[in-house]
Amino acid sequence: MNARPPIPEETKRVVRQRCGFGCVICGSPIYEYDHLVDWSTTHHHKADELTLLCSQHHTVKTKKLLPADKVEAANSKHTTWLPASQHPNPFTTAAIISS
Ligand SMILES: [Zn+2]
Repeated sequence: MNARPPIPEETKRVVRQRCGFGCVICGSPIYEYDHLVDWSTTHHHKADELTLLCSQHHTVKTKKLLPADKVEAANSKHTTWLPASQHPNPFTTAAIISS
């Protein structure tokens, strides 16, 4: 078995900035790194193949209750599905309003 190395800090920084420092679905600032393409398939960590999900959305994605294509769509928008007025992360909300 190949041990999975940690995601490099530089890669994580790029992902955090792209995703607005929050879950790409709900904007929660408490997040985890999710591989859009499973590590078991790619065996690498690339910033454009990673996204941020909160533990709740990470869990439902892992259980396949949240389709991977919805996560990829949210990731590609660099923002969330929620209107800015309903966004729980004030930092991301400010970024949406000002963009
Ligand atoms: Zn979330």
